[in-house]
Amino acid sequence: AKAAGGNRFEFADAEADARAITRHGLTNALPAALERGEFFIEYQPLVHLHDGSVRGAEALVRWSHPQYGVLGPDRFIPLAERTGLIVPLGRWVLEESVRQARNWQREHGGAPLRVNVNLSPTQLTHPGLVADTLRVLESSGLAPGALCLEVTESALIGADDELLEPLRRLAALGVDIALDDFGTGYSNLANLRRLPVSVLKLDRSFTQGMQQEPADPVDVKIVEGIVALAHSLELAVTVEGVETGAQAAQLRALGCDTAQGWYYARPGSPDRIHTLSLCDAVP
Ligand code: C2E
Ligand code: CA
Ligand code: CA
Ligand code: CA
Repeated sequence: AKAAGGNRFEFADAEADARAITRHGLTNALPAALERGEFFIEYQPLVHLHDGSVRGAEALVRWSHPQYGVLGPDRFIPLAERTGLIVPLGRWVLEESVRQARNWQREHGGAPLRVNVNLSPTQLTHPGLVADTLRVLESSGLAPGALCLEVTESALIGADDELLEPLRRLAALGVDIALDDFGTGYSNLANLRRLPVSVLKLDRSFTQGMQQEPADPVDVKIVEGIVALAHSLELAVTVEGVETGAQAAQLRALGCDTAQGWYYARPGSPDRIHTLSLCDAVP
């Protein structure tokens, strides 16, 4: 048993080594990958829970790696964040998504589709954030109100005025700011009033309890409370990770405003948004 244990440890070590080597290789390959255009964006629709119409989409970046195939953001965003490459990569994501949203608006009548873009903590503290964002909006012609920047709750915990200033300026210009992964960061709820946010994106962990029927009563209470709090502060509530119709119905009944999840659509090509918005994804 001891020998087997030893082998297991050696095996675990070898695996950890392999992971570290891959991480190292991926980190080194990031700048050239950006130059070679190996990143692409998938868009996941955001659906109005009450009428089922598509309101816009969240931009989710992927890396088409020549050796490993398509890598999800969890594999490389933390590496890009650590090396600072997140700044040019994030700028590219912003440019590309804003250009895409402008195209949707050109091609499609009706209510203009909006786009949500994730911002990582390093981008938040980068001095060029406001100027870059304005430049991208101006050169594309997209109205600031059609852009929503998603910032995680944990990135804003204990945020001082200096950190909030760029977000306040963007919000004052009409850009929406969403508090992403809300409920996972243990932030002080009273703090919410200080933040220049207009949307709470409730983390998937809270909506999971609504997948079962009947829904988990504790999760129902929590979501009820968060919706009441958000609405009293005039914030909209978006729910992520909606995978079933029962879940969508429950979240709609609880007063959530917008939903995102596999039940409506997986992240995908930007062209698909038209077919979805034309047939109005039925809740
Ligand atoms: P997130 O912002 O919380 O994005 C939602 C994640 O949930 C996405 O994973 C999405 O594909 C996944 N998802 C959507 N609907 C469902 C569902 O019904 N069920 C389940 N189980 N999952 C669902 P993804 O695309 O792997 O992105 C992971 C994270 O990577 C994102 O989490 C975000 O924090 C980060 N990320 C993605 N794109 C960017 C980016 O351009 N910049 C930055 N800084 N971060 C990004
Ligand atoms: Ca997000
Ligand atoms: Ca999220
Ligand atoms: Ca999440």
